[in-house]
Amino acid sequence: MSGRPLWIRKPLGILADDADDGVVVRDGRIEELIPTGGQPSAPDAVAFDASEHVVLPGLINTHHHFYQTLTRATEAALDRPLFGWLTALYPVWARLTPEALDAAATVALAELLLSGCTTTTDHHYVFPPGLDDAIDIEIAAARRLGLRVTVTRGSMNRSQRDGGLPPDTVVQDEDTILADSERLIARYHQSGPDALVRVALAPCSPFSVTTSLMRASAELAARHNVRLHTHLAETADEDRFCQETHGCRPLDYLEQCGWLHDKVWLAHGVHFDAGEMARLAHAGVSVTHCPCSNQILASGHCPVRDLEQAGVRVGLGVDGSASNNASNLMQEVRAAFLLQRGRYGVERVSHRDALRWVTTGSAACIGRPELGVIAPGAQADLALFRLDELRFSGALDPLAALVLCGAHRADRVMVGGNWVVENGAIPNLDLAVLMRRHRIAARSLVD
Ligand SMILES: [Zn+2]
Repeated sequence: MSGRPLWIRKPLGILADDADDGVVVRDGRIEELIPTGGQPSAPDAVAFDASEHVVLPGLINTHHHFYQTLTRATEAALDRPLFGWLTALYPVWARLTPEALDAAATVALAELLLSGCTTTTDHHYVFPPGLDDAIDIEIAAARRLGLRVTVTRGSMNRSQRDGGLPPDTVVQDEDTILADSERLIARYHQSGPDALVRVALAPCSPFSVTTSLMRASAELAARHNVRLHTHLAETADEDRFCQETHGCRPLDYLEQCGWLHDKVWLAHGVHFDAGEMARLAHAGVSVTHCPCSNQILASGHCPVRDLEQAGVRVGLGVDGSASNNASNLMQEVRAAFLLQRGRYGVERVSHRDALRWVTTGSAACIGRPELGVIAPGAQADLALFRLDELRFSGALDPLAALVLCGAHRADRVMVGGNWVVENGAIPNLDLAVLMRRHRIAARSLVD
């Protein structure tokens, strides 16, 4: 049965060509773009007055660790680089419970949604005893809030005993990891263009996973046609670890593990050289830029324009809320814009580049070209922002204003044709109750 089309009429601004008078949405997809002075072809279209809204494709977050909302601004981890920060937090994360993860995931998802995000990934790799259902918990939370997710089944099996960084208490064995990965794909993975839940496999990093698990994960992903994700080239420490342990650079190691192909996207990519960028481009590997996390941990600056010039697709990610400390994707767009413009100058980075990274760039990372774009046939995932806050007063170009003046909260968000944020709020979610529950869970982890 077909619903009545909805005309999002005459927006203040829109990130789409030939759609100055809006878009028509029907049955979860974008049916038609309306140029200036045009009318929908469907005579029964219901109009939504968007004259106070700037319309973007729903933003896509391609790297996160939801559970880390429980350890924001944690004293023991302040002012440390990645390895010191991780070793301070591993013992805290080892106490994670199902209830705490549910609160953490709900907070992260709500924060993302209210910032205009319609599709997110999550990389969960901490499975202490009793938390076997971590990914199931995250999927249930995403379904309640209505976002699309690509949950990546993370893993760690190289602990300090085997020369890795994490303590023995937070790792699992390879058989357990692979069996759970296969269970999750069978139970949840949807392959169609309207998929709300997808599953990918994500061994955590070269310094927390064995070569055997890297290879086995790649084989399992290929067998089930799902994507692969991991952290790579994030810090100089990681580079040193790979040289000492494997006698090569992180990308060489990745290639030896069978990971250099177009089903792979990598978080960070800060420390690639020109030759490595060409290899990534040739293989079709894409990269997630996480500007806030990279700056807070002082990991370095991802060379986004050089990667793109080499032919690598680049998306954006907020990264975990223990390093970023926030989960606001629209703020991440501004952070990426500022960092990259500072690096490359005004001629090579505009606000439109930053918006492209978080939409079509991120869609490429997760292999979903039907998302991140306002075009006929694309999924009807939209983020609508108002410009009536003090910070926008006097702004003229609506799209530039979102990035330059620092938009951080969407007024309305649509996923698959359904409104999941209305008037700046998530229907049926009491934020005060959620924050109380989340605060108690965060305290109990550190106490
Ligand atoms: Zn990360």
